Amino acid sequence: MPFRFLTPDWVVLDVLRLPLDALEAQGIKGFIFDLDNTIMPPHTAELSEAMRDWLTSLTARGLAYIVVSNNHNIAYMKQAEDHIGVRVLGPAKKPSRTILREALDLLELPVNQVCVVGDRPLTDIWGGQRLGATTILVDPLQRANEKGHIHVLRALERLFIQVPPRERCIGYTTTYTTPASEC
Ligand SMILES: [Mg+2]
Repeated sequence: MPFRFLTPDWVVLDVLRLPLDALEAQGIKGFIFDLDNTIMPPHTAELSEAMRDWLTSLTARGLAYIVVSNNHNIAYMKQAEDHIGVRVLGPAKKPSRTILREALDLLELPVNQVCVVGDRPLTDIWGGQRLGATTILVDPLQRANEKGHIHVLRALERLFIQVPPRERCIGYTTTYTTPASEC
């Protein structure tokens, strides 16, 4: 039985496929990205070249972004911040809204113009929904380095999300959990 509070507005295979035209059409002007497994493989503190180019293209479109992480390693987040070139706020304790609200203030945007993007329903999506923002669930960039309990938790929480309509699932085939073959 899916829970309403775990219903992302979109599910997208990865951040690079975010539907920017549609999001801009609904008035989105900024993003709050999760860090680990959303824009960066965990424990790397480095962006892929494709992700860096994509983030640069956001700025070129006039879209703002900031990063909010639940990671507790301050030195790691500072390293990531230096690498990405925007603020990385945390540890955020998502789904708590405290740091997400700080991110909104820094973006200088009202919540209805901001989209929260992350790979975890119980932290990123729930937090974004509690904030009142548009939410997008992405698949994790890398599962190999995940601790066992996170892997199990991820599978469980995805069982309980309510999947948005087909047109709001991007990069998947018949069910939102099956990546399209051309991906
Ligand atoms: Mg994450």
